[in-house]
Amino acid sequence: MTKTNVLILLGPPGAGKGTQARMLEQKFGLVQLSTGDLLRAAVAAGTDAGKQAKAVMDAGGLVSDEIVLAILRDRMSEPDTARGVILDGFPRTAGQAAALDTLLEEQGMSLGAAISLEVDDAAMVERVAGRYTCAKCGEGYHDSFKTPTVDGVCDACGSTEFKRRADDNAETVGARLSAYHDQTAPLIAYYDGKGALKRVDAMGEIDRIAADLGAIVTEVAA
Ligand code: AMP
Repeated sequence: MTKTNVLILLGPPGAGKGTQARMLEQKFGLVQLSTGDLLRAAVAAGTDAGKQAKAVMDAGGLVSDEIVLAILRDRMSEPDTARGVILDGFPRTAGQAAALDTLLEEQGMSLGAAISLEVDDAAMVERVAGRYTCAKCGEGYHDSFKTPTVDGVCDACGSTEFKRRADDNAETVGARLSAYHDQTAPLIAYYDGKGALKRVDAMGEIDRIAADLGAIVTEVAA
């Protein structure tokens, strides 16, 4: 039996991990699994983990491996992950990468590829500080780069409610970029060493980047 494929998207805040993961989910039926989304849900639900995570997230730091791994393990044990998973924002530390290796082994899943979305850091602050999403369907928008066709109405679902993340501001983005370079960027070499790394130029057209990622998904699924 073919092992369930797991793809990892690596890249700094603003690289387009969430946007691309959503597109891969729609195109290939894979399950997008974002630890940022899971943590925001825990914060909103007021769980113990959410309470502990909130201050760290507001400051742009990394939530402890212990909390993130507990949340991830729970989600990975749900049956829909058998369709294949795109990890968006996980792993972010060497400890998380090692724990993921063990988890995949335990669950009979295999790593298809770790894809590094390569971007210019300088452009990331503007990308992140201007972004917002539809509150109903999650479609992503940006103040400068992608506004709805009809002002204030979501192109995808017609909703008029939008939201911005509390941590998507110029001050916090700097801390998030530092956390990425200090703790997450070393994972690029880790996955390269395993022969699992793919690099994608993630500046420029969203559709071209999606096509490059789609080609990788097709290749590793074959
Ligand atoms: P994201 O939505 O991926 O940008 O994540 C938002 C915030 O959630 C990050 O700035 C971290 O504070 C926290 N977070 C998300 N994923 C992780 C992770 N794998 N490890 C530690 N913290 C995380």
